[in-house]
Amino acid sequence: MSELRELYQDMILDHSQHPRNRGKLEKATHHADGFNPLCGDKVKIDLMVDNGTIKDIRFEGSGCAISTASVSLLTEAIKGKSEREIEILFGKFHDLVTGKNENSGESDNLGKLAVFQGVREFPMRVKCATLSWHTLLAALKNEKKVATTEK
Ligand code: ZN
Repeated sequence: MSELRELYQDMILDHSQHPRNRGKLEKATHHADGFNPLCGDKVKIDLMVDNGTIKDIRFEGSGCAISTASVSLLTEAIKGKSEREIEILFGKFHDLVTGKNENSGESDNLGKLAVFQGVREFPMRVKCATLSWHTLLAALKNEKKVATTEK
């Protein structure tokens, strides 16, 4: 278990130091900004959506290691997925990081996103891990106001 935990930490560290899909999308069809006031994490997400499917994604932002790793891993996880698939994935991810099981079991097939399981032990960090998802959902709806982790 501790080996697994170290592996998870390595992956979070790697993605926070070398984020994937960072930058702007010239032909973005959808965009949203997100902000987590509790930590100061900021993220901007550009999407190219075609026929209800994510064709491409880029992000910009500044934040803590968890929020940066979260958005980096998210960009890898959602490419090619539909809006509905993303909502389901977010439900499972939310269950994973909060330790709840509201979205019907199976926390498997989260793939690399499972690395955030340890976050549940740090309630403050849950918002760092979910900011990118709130921002992604806002982008899919093309919301103009800044997405926030606070309701
Ligand atoms: Zn943070």
